[in-house]
Amino acid sequence: MLAINQGDAAADMRQIELWSSRAAASVVALLPLQAQDREPVEVPELAGLPEGAKIRVEVNRYERDRRNRAAALAIHGYLCKACDLDLGERYGPAAAGLIEVHHVTPVSEVGPAYIIDPNTDLVPLCPNCHAVAHRRSPPFSVDELRGMQRPD
Ligand SMILES: [Zn+2]
Ligand SMILES: [Zn+2]
Repeated sequence: MLAINQGDAAADMRQIELWSSRAAASVVALLPLQAQDREPVEVPELAGLPEGAKIRVEVNRYERDRRNRAAALAIHGYLCKACDLDLGERYGPAAAGLIEVHHVTPVSEVGPAYIIDPNTDLVPLCPNCHAVAHRRSPPFSVDELRGMQRPD
């Protein structure tokens, strides 16, 4: 049995972090899509904590990115927004579902508290267009990528 409040504050904090990360994972799994980016999440009433204690925890970033990607693809589809390429159509089943998701506004610019809107902030790009977009900083826009393409 694991316990806290036995004299070692640093050890207590590690234990609380462990509990809260587990509790947050189970809470986040149940949240609707819209709520998942509200971080940190409040996790009330964990066993072993003082009455009324609340802990703020960071939602696992990988899980958040995974959901944002899924939301962006559900909204925008799997075609490249800059060249209309469907990788599954071009290469067959081996490439089905293969597409990259690009942040229209660089993550480094918006900061960690920014709540990403998959509708306006994320865009599917094929690996070619995505690479070209990042040849400049800030990246080329989808319209700029379209404008620089040459006919076959
Ligand atoms: Zn493309
Ligand atoms: Zn990108």
